[in-house]
Amino acid sequence: MKHSPNFEVGSRIVLCIGAHPDDCEFRCGGTAALWSGLGDTIIFLSLTDGSSGTFRENPQQIRERRKLEAAASVAIIHGKSRCMECVDGSLTPSLENRFRLISLIREIQPDIIVTNRPNDYHPDHRYAAQLVQDASYMLQVPNVVPEVPPLRYVPVIMYWGDSFEFPYRFSPRAIVDIDSVLDTKIAMLSAHESQMYEWLPWVDSQLEQVPPPEAGSAARKAWTLALYRRRAVPTYAERYRDLLCERYGELRGMAVVEAEAFEMCEYGYHVDGALIKRIFAGV
Ligand SMILES: [Zn+2]
Repeated sequence: MKHSPNFEVGSRIVLCIGAHPDDCEFRCGGTAALWSGLGDTIIFLSLTDGSSGTFRENPQQIRERRKLEAAASVAIIHGKSRCMECVDGSLTPSLENRFRLISLIREIQPDIIVTNRPNDYHPDHRYAAQLVQDASYMLQVPNVVPEVPPLRYVPVIMYWGDSFEFPYRFSPRAIVDIDSVLDTKIAMLSAHESQMYEWLPWVDSQLEQVPPPEAGSAARKAWTLALYRRRAVPTYAERYRDLLCERYGELRGMAVVEAEAFEMCEYGYHVDGALIKRIFAGV
């Protein structure tokens, strides 16, 4: 039985929790790929079923499709996908959902949890963060969800980056150069075909410009890369150039094109600077 998170590089369990099946890829897919490359176990958990990410399919059709896409995406980095099966667009921080999440986290026994901050435009994202916060202490309380044995430790909990300014701005304590795995991250995003080539272009009124499947996978991935970059301006590398130079030195720090950044959640295992270095060693 674990009495603290495991920090041994190569044997850690990293649980990335998003509201939707493609959230983890967007925000921490590169870092997850690097951790996986070190031998760590990666699990992407979507709290909702993705059944609202469509303009033309019924909920059952898109739900099944997105389940396959999520599995195919995380399989690229030898990870696993899980789904809590709440209805997309209707996630609430209810007691029922809190208990379901506590059960899942206890079963997975992660060392590190990565999720989004509670400041976000999308209610599902906000409530995903709220649910992780609400679950954090209760993971150890035996009489809460008594049918699943409690954890005897609190995992490290961290937030992936965002650009929201209120009520407070994202304040990263770790940054990762993901240029070496950018192709992998884009391949993972591209596996979410219903989102990269249908739903998100439809939201952006760009459906007519999407390269069709017969244009080839290189053209499709270039589209995905452009879509990803459009949604993250300025990039984390531009925004936190000083952190990159501090971590990697001036030469490499200035050259990084794409990065992912992380803030620590106070409700998780207490991490100091030395532990942050250990968590991100080799990535
Ligand atoms: Zn989302």
